Order: sequence, then C-alpha cells, then structure tokens
Amino acid sequence: MFENLQERLGAILNNLTGRGALSEADVAAALREVRRALIEADVALDVVRSFTERVREKAVGAEVLKSVKPGQMVVKIVHDELVEMLGAEGETIDLNAPAPVVLMMVGLQGSGKTTTTGKIARRLSERQGKKVLMASLDTRRPAAQEQLRQIGEQVSVATLPIVAGQSPVDIAKRAVQAARLGGHDVVILDTAGRTHIDEPLMAEMADIKRVANPHEILLVADSLTGQDAVNLARSFDERVGITGLVLTRMDGDGRGGAALSMRAVTGKPIKLIGTGEKMDALEEFHPRRIADRILGMGDIVSLVEKAAETIDQEKAAAMAKKMQAGKFDLNDLAEQLQQMQKMGGMGGIMGLMPGMGKMKDQLAAAGLNDKTFARQIAIIRSMTPQERANPDILKNSRKKRIAAGSGTDAAQINKLLKMHRQMADMMKAMGGKGRKGGMMRGLM
Ligand code: GDP
Repeated sequence: MFENLQERLGAILNNLTGRGALSEADVAAALREVRRALIEADVALDVVRSFTERVREKAVGAEVLKSVKPGQMVVKIVHDELVEMLGAEGETIDLNAPAPVVLMMVGLQGSGKTTTTGKIARRLSERQGKKVLMASLDTRRPAAQEQLRQIGEQVSVATLPIVAGQSPVDIAKRAVQAARLGGHDVVILDTAGRTHIDEPLMAEMADIKRVANPHEILLVADSLTGQDAVNLARSFDERVGITGLVLTRMDGDGRGGAALSMRAVTGKPIKLIGTGEKMDALEEFHPRRIADRILGMGDIVSLVEKAAETIDQEKAAAMAKKMQAGKFDLNDLAEQLQQMQKMGGMGGIMGLMPGMGKMKDQLAAAGLNDKTFARQIAIIRSMTPQERANPDILKNSRKKRIAAGSGTDAAQINKLLKMHRQMADMMKAMGGKGRKGGMMRGLM
C-alpha cells in the first residue's frame, strides 16, 4: 500500500544526504517534495500543510549530530513526525469495562464490517481467551444475519440466534441480555450499513448506542476510498461518536492517504487494520512500524538514534571529568538541567552516574524538581557569560537584573546559587575520592 510513497520520499531524502548543513533552503526543497509525495498519496491537504510545517520548524537550524549526514537527520525528523501524525502510541481495543463489554461496529455497506466483526471475535477468543458473542443487527439485508452466523461457525464463536421480525434495537437489547446470562466477556454488535450516510442510518446508530451502551464504537472504513473514508469518519464521529477505527483493505494498492490523515483529521486512533479476506488477516496498527514502512529507512532512523545516544554519553563523560576536577560552573549546571529535562526528568545524567543517587536526593531537598527545571534554566540564561563562569560576583544589583530578565525573584536566584554551591562542593569531594579510585571510577 505504501510502496509509491516510500519510493518518492526515499528518493527525495536520499538526495539530501551528503550535503553540508541543514540550511533553510535545503529543508525547504526537501519539504516541497515531501509535500508533493503526500498529496499524491491522497493525504488531506491541511494535514499535509501542518505536517510539513512541523518538520520545517524542527529541521531548520537543527543541530546535525556528529557522524550523521544532514539528509539522514531530516529522515529522522520526518519519521518522528510521521509517527506522531499516526498516533505515537499504538492503541488497541479497550476491554477495560465490566462484562459483558459491548463493542459496536459501524460503517458503510461493503466496507468489511461483518468480516471484521468475525476477525475481531476470533482474535479475542483465540488470543485472549475471551468468551465472545456476536450479533447482527442488520435487518435490512436478508442475508446479513445468516452471513454472520456462518462466520461464527468458521471462527468457532457464538452468534445470537436469529429471530425473524425483530428491530435492530430489540436485537441489541437481546444480545446484551444473552451475553450477560451466558457469561460472555464480550458482545460484538454488527450494525447495518448503507451505501452512503443518511439520517435514518444515523438515527438507528444513536438508538442502538443508547440501549446497548457500547464501550467501544469502532468505525470500519475501506482504506481504498482515501479521503472519502476520512470524511466518513468525521461524519460518524460527529453524529454518533466513535472510539476508534478499523481500516480495511490495507492489503490493496491504495495510496495510503486515509491511514495517514485519519488520526490527524478525526483525532481518533486507528486500532486495527484489515489486510485480507481471511479471518486471520487482522493486524494491530503500530504507528512506528507503519512510519518505517512508509519511509523504508528504518536503518537510518536507528543510526541517528544511536548517534544521539553516543553524544549524550560523551557529554556525560566530559561533564564528569569537569566535576572531578572540581570545576562546575553555572554553564555546566544549565547544561545538566537541560539534559535532565531532555531525558525526562531527575533521572537524567545523574541516573547514569554511579554514586549520584544521594545527590539526587539532595537536589530534591533543595527544591529542584522536574517542574522547576525550566525556571532554573531561565535564570541562568539571563546571566552574562562572566556571571555564569564566576557566580561569586552576583551581588544585589545583578540579581535584580537577572530576576527581571527571567521573570523570577531574588529568593529564587539565591536558591539556585545555593544549590549550585552545594553541588560544586559535593562534586569536589567526590572527585577527590575518584582520584583514589572511588565513586567516579566507573566513568573514567
Ligand atoms: P460489510 O458489508 O461492511 O459487512 O462488508 P463485508 O464484511 O461483507 O465485506 C465485503 C467484502 O470485502 C468481502 O468480500 C470481504 O471478504 C472483503 N474484505 C473485508 N475486509 C477485507 C480486507 O481487509 N482486505 C481485503 N482484501 N478484503 C476484505
């Protein structure tokens, strides 16, 4: 499905490799092509626009990591934004509710709704050991209920006995009741479809939702219909409310645009994808894997990740050396704070260094926590280089200026200075031990 997009993007981004630096012009040229490739893949226009804008913001002026080529850097940024656009953390069907958990399947006729109902039932019963009941609420198409019954037989999952003449709402009630009495964990309601959205269909969906109280409402949409599928999802969500999507026919030769813009347009996660007619052709949707497939450059992405890791380690080692020598000025503190922020909090470099656990506690006691990082960094940024290198010169008038510059006050500056002093003292002490082969030994 993503082959064309992969080829286009691959060629563009490869062209960038080997150039000197990430200039605005380079990035703009690459992004023009990325934009064209995405539009060709039938990604919604406004999604393309905001996507390329985000990549541009991150790419222009980005520090090109040592041992990485500029083009590779852009690949990584495009990749990360793709993952973000597709929904970062993959999500799957949520069964976290009292049994029987009701799943309601909605969508147009021919989208693959009944097939997908069977696939999901099979997956839940075979892989998760759930006791599942399926019910077809399609009273309009005479063969629909029989079709689901046959699928049920095929995947060894129970279906609600067919009672002629019942309304969809009544069947829904009966299904939930039967599931409760029968001790089923999950009941899947396969609703009727239409060839297009109309008011009676929406009213019927709303009625069923009211009586069945579904935990998940999954829209089944045909990925081959591209932007139509995206618009459909938006309408269904506005009128009935959906909790997620299943995109079918991802095995087909569609251009992939539906999968790409679905999340960005609807805000709803793609939870599963259908990849064939067989009952086992259902996969979880992994944004990262899909992004890898689209770009076809997984090796470049991991290369850049490795380089970033190496650089962090080099920085940590350089910092440790400075500490050991008893040199640790406010520039170093700012660097530390930024690093900690980047690495997700107090863990930071401290966590990587043997013997630093105690210091972490001290910092916390001195009022440094994940929330105060940004403010501390702002204070240090408001200082002159001279002040940062030699905090002793910070008297009241200078503190006033810094407070005004960073939107803080003298008390907060004093707190920071005190913390820095404590850290510097402690590092000196630790450095001493280090020379005798003590605490810092592991790092040198
Ligand atoms: P419904 O009207 O929405 O219930 O659609 P059906 O479940 O009856 O499916 C319509 C057709 O699409 C059937 O022939 C299915 O085998 C086929 N189909 C469903 N999902 C997929 C899929 O993921 N890939 C492919 N290739 N075919 C599918």
